[in-house]
Amino acid sequence: MGVRMKDIIICNAVPAYEEAPVSLTLLKEHTEEILNTLMKETVNECFLIVPKNQQMKDIPEGIRVMEAPTTSGFAYGNHSALLKVTENEKAIPYCTNGQLLTESSFVTVEEVLGIDKKKVCIGGKARIKGVCELNKRTTPEEILDVCKSQGTFKGMFFGHPMGRFISASNLKEEILLTTDYIEILDDSDCILNTLLRVIERYDKESCGRCVFGHEGTAQLRMILTDITLKKGKASDIELMLALSHEMQQQSLCEIGYTAANVMISAVETFQSELEEHITKKNCMAGVCSKFVTYHILADMCTGCNECVDACEEDAILGKRKFIHVIDQDECTQCGACLKACEEEAIVKAGAVKPRCPKKPIPCKN
Ligand code: SF4
Ligand code: SF4
Repeated sequence: MGVRMKDIIICNAVPAYEEAPVSLTLLKEHTEEILNTLMKETVNECFLIVPKNQQMKDIPEGIRVMEAPTTSGFAYGNHSALLKVTENEKAIPYCTNGQLLTESSFVTVEEVLGIDKKKVCIGGKARIKGVCELNKRTTPEEILDVCKSQGTFKGMFFGHPMGRFISASNLKEEILLTTDYIEILDDSDCILNTLLRVIERYDKESCGRCVFGHEGTAQLRMILTDITLKKGKASDIELMLALSHEMQQQSLCEIGYTAANVMISAVETFQSELEEHITKKNCMAGVCSKFVTYHILADMCTGCNECVDACEEDAILGKRKFIHVIDQDECTQCGACLKACEEEAIVKAGAVKPRCPKKPIPCKN
């Protein structure tokens, strides 16, 4: 598509995250004010982009409301993708936000309303979740003061388009908030697992137009998945970093290079935890199921035999009135026995394993 030489203004109300619909909430709460402010603009055309199935009433002449083909997505942060929506096409970016048309103005709902604070949805292991109003320039320490952490604070993930992790040691760093979503991480979170979830999201959001953005993200997802399955190789982190640096340079839009930023920031911030999954085959948080083992505590087991029936792999050795034992070579870490044991004798373990009998022995009582 060529450059459109029109004097237009485009206001986007489609959220990046379905679970953090900041722009949509503002649109619903301040519809009249937004429409009146947009009406005052002296431009040839004025567009308001709304999520799919968003009903809008009493639209003044002069404002064209365009329904996006989806209810949310990272692409709507890209100006060229928004131009596509004004032409009733899919929101597929064709250039980065740095190469934009000078005669088009792109504004967010927050900018139209002149809000000088940033509304953000806080999720993950925050004690106070949901929408919070924060200073645009803030520190992780200020954010944590507002939302608190459920367990021992481990870090934060700043969603698209920021795409970065910070750890407990970066609490005083000043940051400019441009995302609608922040996830609080505590000591029960595994960074590898969180990173994989984020990269899977980018893989899904990627439109497939560029090799480095699309294929690069898919490669990152596959390598990270292998690490969670205990198939990680010593060279994986170096490989993912090299790939991410290429993605930063060669992706056609910010979806690809933000995925790369996420990867690089995870390594910069939590390298030792990622490496521990590869070299020591250990998940400190006990989240990655392949790294977790199941054990029966001898002083808790009453020999009721319930777990034997629950285990489809026949991995539990023992009979009634005997302390049962899990055969680690047969166990597939499905967790069914944990739920079946009413005595809470079965536990999950990460790197530190409880001492257990090697074979079933009679219960003391
Ligand atoms: S581990 Fe639990 S379910 Fe299995 S025999 Fe012992 S007490 Fe019963
Ligand atoms: S975790 Fe699953 S496979 Fe392993 S012993 Fe328990 S029920 Fe059997």
